[in-house]
Amino acid sequence: MRTLLDKLEREHRLSKAEFASLLRARDPDLEREAARRADAVRRRCYGADVYIRGLIEFTNCCRNDCLYCGIRRSNAHVERYRLTEEQILSCCREGHMLGYRTFVLQGGEDPKWGPERIADLVRTIRTDWPDCAVTLSVGEHSRAVYQLWFDAGAERYLLRHETADDAHYRTLHPPEMSPEHRKKCLWDLKDIGYQVGAGFMVGSPGQTEEQLAEDLCFLYELQPDMVGIGPFIPHHDTPFRDRPRGSLEQTLFLLSLIRLMLPTVLLPATTALGTIHPQGRELGIRAGANVCMPNLSPTAVREKYALYDDKICTGDESAQCRQCLAARMASAGYQVVVGRGDRAGRQERAPCPHPAPLRPAHRDPSDYKNI
Ligand code: SF4
Repeated sequence: MRTLLDKLEREHRLSKAEFASLLRARDPDLEREAARRADAVRRRCYGADVYIRGLIEFTNCCRNDCLYCGIRRSNAHVERYRLTEEQILSCCREGHMLGYRTFVLQGGEDPKWGPERIADLVRTIRTDWPDCAVTLSVGEHSRAVYQLWFDAGAERYLLRHETADDAHYRTLHPPEMSPEHRKKCLWDLKDIGYQVGAGFMVGSPGQTEEQLAEDLCFLYELQPDMVGIGPFIPHHDTPFRDRPRGSLEQTLFLLSLIRLMLPTVLLPATTALGTIHPQGRELGIRAGANVCMPNLSPTAVREKYALYDDKICTGDESAQCRQCLAARMASAGYQVVVGRGDRAGRQERAPCPHPAPLRPAHRDPSDYKNI
């Protein structure tokens, strides 16, 4: 198996069968060796730096019904919320003071946050904080809408493909969603010029090593700038409530393989990893990750953005999260840095030259009910 690691490190790709055999090995020595090599690669590309992104979960309303997701449309137990423009800008203001230079606007596919409204918000953030990057993570849309947001100043887009295996995709999503459309969105985003993030769940119900190998091959083909992977964690109000969590070891091993395959990729140690193990994020960084995404959302809404059970950091103020993370990374031998944290070799774009005034916030009572 070490010869396969040699090959991956040398050629940055393996066949699907080779990836699958590595994943089936479940060999702790092999996993430690992969982490050691992945850490050496990330130190060559990024030193001991850990980039931070300020995550703003601005709406938990979603028109979709993904079977694994705690805020899926059919979960009537969720208390729905939408942040207003003013609340989001206040999160950015605080985040900028704390040293964040990337804001990740994440939410469900919310019809009340339409394309123009999001574009206005992006323009305002890029105008008010021109030294910051804006990442959007708001699901599947048309190419025209992605172009609108790119022209408004959004430079990065996160859209996990969740699984590259078409049959597996259909077991995780309702019939109206398709793996073809998800992949088309990723290719559209890349074609427009975004720094694109893809990714998948590890240990999702029914997943096999062959399917994970397919995910790795898809990532090689897509060549994304970011890859977000995290263990599957069930949510008690979903059809997958009784399914087991994904494993820490397999997630860490996959992080290492991704670092060896895509040496300069931006690779988060996710909150889900921190949820399944008290030192999950530190272990993720040691296995090759180089990004963390602490939460900047108001504490009053954090628990309402529960994609899975037991999510960590829902009660801490943003400043506490920032300090806690810096201390955790320092204890693991890494350092949180202030900066946009672009992918090595990527250029930043100039801020949008046509700032738009903010529209009045849309606030009506239905904003806070189930949609
Ligand atoms: S995973 Fe995303 S698109 Fe699917 S239901 Fe949850 S928030 Fe909506």
